[in-house]
Amino acid sequence: MSGITIKSTAEITSMRNAGQILKDTKKILFDIVEPGITTIELDQIAESTIRKLGGIPGFKGLYGFPATICASINEEIVHGIPSDRVISEGDILSVDIGAIVDGMNADSAFTMGVGTIGKEVTGLIEDTRKSLDLGIEQVKSGVRVGDISFAIQSYAEELGYGVVRQYVGHGIGRELHEEPQIPNYGPSGRGPILKAGMAIAIEPMLNLGHWDTELKPDGWTVVTADGSLSAHFEETIVITENGSEILT
Ligand code: MG
Ligand code: MG
Repeated sequence: MSGITIKSTAEITSMRNAGQILKDTKKILFDIVEPGITTIELDQIAESTIRKLGGIPGFKGLYGFPATICASINEEIVHGIPSDRVISEGDILSVDIGAIVDGMNADSAFTMGVGTIGKEVTGLIEDTRKSLDLGIEQVKSGVRVGDISFAIQSYAEELGYGVVRQYVGHGIGRELHEEPQIPNYGPSGRGPILKAGMAIAIEPMLNLGHWDTELKPDGWTVVTADGSLSAHFEETIVITENGSEILT
C-alpha cells in the first residue's frame, strides 16, 4: 500500500471520469443479469464497456487476478472469479468492479437478487446498502476513520447481521489499495483523520450469519464460514472542502 495521499484537482477529475465509467458499466450489468447468464459473459460485457468508454479494467492482472469483475454468488462474499457458472433464479450476485483513467482508480460494488428472492434476503441487500450510506454520511474533512466504521457496524449488528472483519475498505488513487484501511467495525473517534483531497473506498460486507470467512481452494473466492448468504456494496468517495462527493 502507498501512504495516505492528497489528490490534485487533475487527479480527482480522472477519478471522477473513472467513476462515471463504473456508473455506466454497473447499470448495464444490472440490467443484463438474468437466470441463465454466466459470470464470464458478464465479465466480457464489463471489460468491453469499460474499454469502449475510455477506461482500463482496474482489477485485471492486479495481484494476478484474471478478470475485470469479481462475481460472487450467494455465500461467496468477495473475489469470486468469473467462470462458466450459470446464474440461477433466486441467487444473489455481488459484482465488484474497478476502472482506471489516466492512471487513477475508481472501485465500486453492488449486490442484486436474480429473479424472485425471499424477504430476508431482500432485507440483507437493502440493509447492506443502507449501512454503506450511513458510513458515507459520516465522510467530511476532520472526521476519523473510526466514525465511518462505527456507523456501519452499529447499524448492521443492531439488525443481527455479521459484519465481515477480514476484508475492509481502503484509500484509493494511483493505487487501487492505498492507506488508510477503512474497517467496517470498530469504535468511533479513532483512526486517521480524513482531509480534503483524500479519496476512500467504503465497502461493507454483511452476512445473514456469523462474520467469519473462509478462502476457497482457488485461492481467491472468499465465502462465509457458516455458509450463510452475504451482500457487498462499495463506493469510491473523495473528501471535499465542504463534505464529500461519491464518484461511483
Ligand atoms: Mg471493490
Ligand atoms: Mg475496494
